[in-house]
Amino acid sequence: MKIVRSVNRMFKISSAARRAGRRIGFVPTMGALHQGHLSLIRAARRENDLVVVSIFVNPLQFGPKEDFKKYPRAFSRDKRLCRDEKVDFVFSPPADEIYPEDFKTAVLVKGLSDLLCGSSRPGHFQGVATVVSKLFNIVSADTAYFGQKDAQQTVIIRQMVRDLNIPVKIRVMPIVREKDGLAMSSRNIYLSSRERQDARVLPEALKLAKVLMQSGQQDSRVLINRMRKLILRKKNAKIDYIAVVDGKTLRPLKKVSSGCLILAAVFFGRTRLIDNLIAA
Ligand code: AMP
Repeated sequence: MKIVRSVNRMFKISSAARRAGRRIGFVPTMGALHQGHLSLIRAARRENDLVVVSIFVNPLQFGPKEDFKKYPRAFSRDKRLCRDEKVDFVFSPPADEIYPEDFKTAVLVKGLSDLLCGSSRPGHFQGVATVVSKLFNIVSADTAYFGQKDAQQTVIIRQMVRDLNIPVKIRVMPIVREKDGLAMSSRNIYLSSRERQDARVLPEALKLAKVLMQSGQQDSRVLINRMRKLILRKKNAKIDYIAVVDGKTLRPLKKVSSGCLILAAVFFGRTRLIDNLIAA
């Protein structure tokens, strides 16, 4: 496994591999790897000749009051995990390789970036779309792997790839969860033990929505209200949003239908967690 720091070198490696007819699988991450990331890496390993994992904490997708500085960084451990998964290249450039001083461009996927997570995190998805489009150009993968955990991100990336004719296939892998149901996230380590306990209510609320849907409930308002009530039983939980939306357009739906998304973002203390469910 090789560690690549320079954009030029990564570009050369991936162009040469493409010319040699090797299929490249690419997994973009911000590091602090957990089983969720590893599930993407394993899928990339199964389906490609060469696997590139990027580890880059992207300053552009953090708001001024967000956790860029204290975002967990665990490069030695990440390297070990990648090596164990037989990753070929870890691309981990310094910030000024990606954003040199005279960097001026931004990628904005209009209409999808300012809703849901985007409304409480202005600029976040523009930062994501900008870095992902750069990484796609640098790595020139056949297939890129993303997690369903960040449902809105996957919708935005798919739209961007279509709109800009980026020649990459997008694969979205299921949410990997802790034993008690909490979706794995690099941010879970911020939770105090009390908050960690309370956070179980987030997947429980989605499970409740699933049970209600299975018993025939189709009214989004009813589902959202029941989820809200359950979550607010936890004193320290503060709901950012709960929404039932179309899986492609992210438009709110009055009635649930197969393939629609039920999404929630909830603060436990100062830590904001997200989770979602695709309706069967
Ligand atoms: P991040 O390092 O948080 O930017 O995440 C990198 C990729 O891993 C994104 O595509 C995420 O959606 C995905 N990911 C994060 N957590 C999970 C999880 N619990 N299950 C599946 N994929 C995940």
